[in-house]
Amino acid sequence: METTHYARLHDYHMHTRLCGHAVGELNEYVERAIALGLPEIGFSDHMPMTVWGAERDPTLSMTEADMATYVAWVEEARARYAGKITIRFGVEADYTKGRHRELRDYFDAYPFDYVIGSVHFIEGWSFDHPDHVEMWETRDVDEVYRAYFDLVVEAARSGMFQMLAHLDLVKKFGHRPSAALDMAGLGEGVADAVAASGAATEINTAGWYKPVGEQYPAGEFVRACVARGVPILLSSDAHDPGHVGRDFDRALVLATSLGATRAPVFEKRAVIGYRTYA
Ligand code: ZN
Ligand code: FE
Ligand code: FE
Ligand code: ZN
Repeated sequence: METTHYARLHDYHMHTRLCGHAVGELNEYVERAIALGLPEIGFSDHMPMTVWGAERDPTLSMTEADMATYVAWVEEARARYAGKITIRFGVEADYTKGRHRELRDYFDAYPFDYVIGSVHFIEGWSFDHPDHVEMWETRDVDEVYRAYFDLVVEAARSGMFQMLAHLDLVKKFGHRPSAALDMAGLGEGVADAVAASGAATEINTAGWYKPVGEQYPAGEFVRACVARGVPILLSSDAHDPGHVGRDFDRALVLATSLGATRAPVFEKRAVIGYRTYA
């Protein structure tokens, strides 16, 4: 295990088994992070889908009642590992058209250090869910891409998020748009919106383990974000304690080669400082 750089990094994108598709105990994620030498981590489990009026899919999110457990687990871990690691409390929230008030009320109802904005649904279709992958066969890939990036831009413009996750998640299963789709233009549009919102984004190493075999987002997206001053976090999107900080050495090399210089530290939904990569 390469641990050289971990003291300068933090991982804010980690799930818990409350979401129904992650494994292990929350304390195991923490212990893995401590073993790696990470000074700070944050949990960002999937928010309850019922908050935005969807029917809960037990393989995608916790219940609203589970939120109390989630808060308690993080508080217990903070007490148990005090002095060893800083633990932030976050959430990965699905941006949902027409549901801004419900989302904002939910973000205000819990002591979040940060909210990660994600797009996993296009008009109710969970396009990145392995159980719903067959829907791709009935869709025009360029149109799916356009709809997806429209939502990402809208999510950023909502101003509700401290970080936007996996900016090009739509590529997960390896569906690629035609040459007619202006990917560079879409990347610039997304980067403009993220920059204007003051949010950060991530290099998400989980993409290396998905069918697409590429980190999220592609290098051009990272470059477009960096050019506009958007800070780039490194994220594992851990759904297993063994994923914490996964491939951060490789991600750090990539991030710095693309011009990224620092990752923000969040507390109470504000940036309180940065860790620098150099
Ligand atoms: Zn997940
Ligand atoms: Fe996600
Ligand atoms: Fe995630
Ligand atoms: Zn994610």
